[in-house]
Amino acid sequence: MKVDILSEKDVVATVLTRERGLLRAVVHGARGRSKRAASLQLLTEVEISVFRREGSDLGSVREIEPRQSAFSLAMRPDTALLLPYMAESALAFCPPEMAVQETYRLIRHVLDALIEGQAPGPLAGRYFECWILKLAGIFPSVRTCSVCGNALSGKAAFEPSGPFLLHPDCGERGRPLVTEGTVALLQSITASPLPAVRLPQAQEREALLGAEMIAREVRRHFLGFELKSYALLGVLDATPRSPC
Ligand SMILES: [Zn+2]
Repeated sequence: MKVDILSEKDVVATVLTRERGLLRAVVHGARGRSKRAASLQLLTEVEISVFRREGSDLGSVREIEPRQSAFSLAMRPDTALLLPYMAESALAFCPPEMAVQETYRLIRHVLDALIEGQAPGPLAGRYFECWILKLAGIFPSVRTCSVCGNALSGKAAFEPSGPFLLHPDCGERGRPLVTEGTVALLQSITASPLPAVRLPQAQEREALLGAEMIAREVRRHFLGFELKSYALLGVLDATPRSPC
């Protein structure tokens, strides 16, 4: 997930594991063009064995072998900047030392859909950010109004401090509004695997921007800061990412 340089040859890698969550471990001989260096490319899935003394929070990698590289995505303009964004999000939302199998599966699922060409980059970004917040238990319900409890369809108002979505006529006015397309997109994202998510036929870009705004505001409200990699996401697709 993250590599910090320790010396000329050694690095400290932060690795997301299925069973133990985030682990930090020294990898010897991992700089330059070695196989170990290739194993540590961002979001490459690896087989790893780590030795760790009891009570220490830093392990030492004995063996590391790449299983599935994400390198092809790092070369694509629509996905290159998604990789650091996904990695930084996982670091921000995964508690260390806790099994985070759902997060691991989410990352693998999004990477596979992208590698197999089953989803465009911007949609995959929205899918990932909504789901990582949902797994953290902080994504609003997208099916029912938080005030009256009836089904949401059509436009909705958004309150980041809840966070919640509500009918525009329920509750005070002045909250940001999202389009019917955004509501439909969020309902599809939270109910379907990524390749089955349907973008609305009209105003696709507005729907994606609305979903992004909701995820961004929920994340900022929860973390109290913004992810560094998020600001870079807009460099390639020219989407402005100023606060709403
Ligand atoms: Zn309502």
